Amino acid sequence: MNGHRYLRDPKYCQQWLFLPEYPGLLIVMGYSMRCFYSPEFYLDLPSDHPYPMQKFRISKDMLLERGTVRPEDIVEVRPAATHVLERAHTPAYLQKIYSGQLDRKEQIQLGFPLTPQLYTRSALEVEATRLACEAALQDGAAVVLAGGTHHAFREHGEGYCVFNDIAVAIRSLQVKRPGIKVMVVDTDAHQGNGTNSLLDNDPNVFTYSIHVGRNDPVRKVKGSMDVETVRYVEGEMYLKQLFSTLAAAMDVFSPDLVIWIAGADNHRNDQLGQMMLTVKDIQRRDEVILGAMLRNRIPIALLYGGGYNRQPEYTAKLHRNTVVTAKRILGEVQGLVS
Ligand SMILES: [Zn+2]
Repeated sequence: MNGHRYLRDPKYCQQWLFLPEYPGLLIVMGYSMRCFYSPEFYLDLPSDHPYPMQKFRISKDMLLERGTVRPEDIVEVRPAATHVLERAHTPAYLQKIYSGQLDRKEQIQLGFPLTPQLYTRSALEVEATRLACEAALQDGAAVVLAGGTHHAFREHGEGYCVFNDIAVAIRSLQVKRPGIKVMVVDTDAHQGNGTNSLLDNDPNVFTYSIHVGRNDPVRKVKGSMDVETVRYVEGEMYLKQLFSTLAAAMDVFSPDLVIWIAGADNHRNDQLGQMMLTVKDIQRRDEVILGAMLRNRIPIALLYGGGYNRQPEYTAKLHRNTVVTAKRILGEVQGLVS
């Protein structure tokens, strides 16, 4: 293979093989979809805690085993810097998390025990989302193998969300690219109340959320478009509501980038989601959202969001399925079949 070189097209994320003996020929070898990850997404929790913390590692391993993602596509991240986190959070709140000084009520609201790892873990997720947005703008699609901490507010955390990775990522994009238009598509079963509060009144941001009306969070915050489903909504009705309203959102806002909080807690066996979607329904959701964005050349950053099946493997599988669909549709759009 002497003299053979692999080249990467930065615009279309294809990998080409260049053979010096055939200078006029470039062979398309595949394409990459970068996945942002850290082994430190894992946080030690009490054994009876409902959060399936192992899902991050398990889903990453499943994607590698299946060959959906190559080892070189997994990008290990470092924690976001303090000044980056301050784009959405107050220094006082960051200090509170750093020093573990939440009162009992605040701890219950957050849902995670205050350990020395909590600050770093949360800052890692933020950085992963920030980098995935940049990667999506380059490659068409990129994934955070975690992320979607949409219940985090400027000065407090709720529902397992410490820092708001979506809001920090958008504020960071705006620093580099003033005027960039970002749409948040939140299909996690719960409303992105923290995201809505942090991004309120920004004409360059559109927040779309479809969620169960009568479920947590109890205190919802109005976004650009909120779609409430009934409790225990079945797949057919959910998908109908999703497709018609998301199309309406796309009619009024043309994004340069979509940040999608996919959510695996819509599945019928989830402990917290209160939706009745099957694996097939979730796949249909994924195909339509990814197809609508990628076929229209709208870059998309995919974040996991929630997923609380009693079996961490099962939730990991649901997240994996979404990434597999993303890779397949990205390939189809690029003219390659994975
Ligand atoms: Zn959720």
